[in-house]
Amino acid sequence: MGSTILVTGGAGFIGSHTCVALAAAGYTPLILDNLGNSDARVVDRLARIIGTAPRFIEGDVRDRALLDKLFREQPIAGVIHFAGLKAVGDSVADPITYYDNNVHGSFVLAAAMQAAGVRTLIFSSSATVYGDPDSSPIPESAALRPANPYGHSKRMVEQALADLQHAHPAWRIALLRYFNPVGAHESGLIGEHPQGKPNNLMPFVCQVAVGLRDKLAVHGGDYPTPDGTGVRDYVHVMDLAEGHVAALRHAAQQPGLVTLNLGTGQGASVLEVVKAFERASGKTIAYEIGPRRPGDVPAYWGDPSLAQATLGWRAQRGLEQMCADSWRWQQGNPRGYES
Ligand code: NAD
Ligand code: UDP
Repeated sequence: MGSTILVTGGAGFIGSHTCVALAAAGYTPLILDNLGNSDARVVDRLARIIGTAPRFIEGDVRDRALLDKLFREQPIAGVIHFAGLKAVGDSVADPITYYDNNVHGSFVLAAAMQAAGVRTLIFSSSATVYGDPDSSPIPESAALRPANPYGHSKRMVEQALADLQHAHPAWRIALLRYFNPVGAHESGLIGEHPQGKPNNLMPFVCQVAVGLRDKLAVHGGDYPTPDGTGVRDYVHVMDLAEGHVAALRHAAQQPGLVTLNLGTGQGASVLEVVKAFERASGKTIAYEIGPRRPGDVPAYWGDPSLAQATLGWRAQRGLEQMCADSWRWQQGNPRGYES
């Protein structure tokens, strides 16, 4: 068995897929998750993909005593820190809960790692730290202008980890700024299943395709984009997962801190996603163009060239595959892991 990697939030959407990529690369994932936004049944699904069930600890990343025990008892070589809350609207309504989970949680984790002498950390940041960028593709050097408490929480943790690495140069830290993760593992056994009405485009489109929702509300058709709808950089979740493995390998080579965009470098509009999904699924997606969603940025996509130069990582999977894999998961699991 290879090095043990603690995966906080490993029962969630990106974390579960990263466990698959870790196992494929010879690492042993150890999941810590409070199941606040996930389902323990993901562990059985992971066992079917990986061949053995990853070890799963139900607990909170803010529980310092639990972390100390884990670091004492398990041969943890590094940590991938996904655990956090991610709904922008909720963060506006309840900022303290967001700062407590995302910022305080990261501080408790970093302090426990420092005490245990575990100094390799891959952190889930987000392109949301850029806010409304001056231009796209966005390089990592672009101004950081988060526009809501969720984005602020990511920026605060980035800053704190940079300060930590500066104070203690033995740390090996990667801050990974994801663009729009979508898709699912090609097996269709794991995927994203938001609770309640989906906020995000791809889960909503999936639920229309499977008949759970009547039609997609397209949030704005009058943006200054080629077809008037919003443009984002959608990236396949397995590409993201493999980016984390590449970041771990890079961290193993040398101490330091890297900040990297993980995206495809290409934007797709809402209607392009709808059309690609229709091709992949053979279903018609009913939609209606409505008003803009407050706070939405018209268009942005990332410049992933630094990740390629630094990690040798590049997104391999295109929009058609993102849609085909999302659809396979949705069709086989219309009610998520309850299905
Ligand atoms: P997710 O909600 O599916 O996964 C997060 C997991 O963390 C969940 O399983 C949840 O139960 C767990 N969790 C939350 N707070 C916890 C705590 N205090 N202790 C232990 N476990 C806790 O979300 P995801 O899409 O997989 O996102 C993973 C990370 O990536 C998050 O930090 C998120 O902010 C970041 N991110 C996500 C996106 C996206 O669009 N999905 C984009 C950029 C960044
Ligand atoms: N979107 C939409 N209808 C929906 C959900 C999203 O038209 O039901 C649009 C949204 O306005 C944006 C794009 O799809 O242009 C991606 O939105 P998502 O919420 O998935 O990601 P984010 O905007 O947070 O990057």
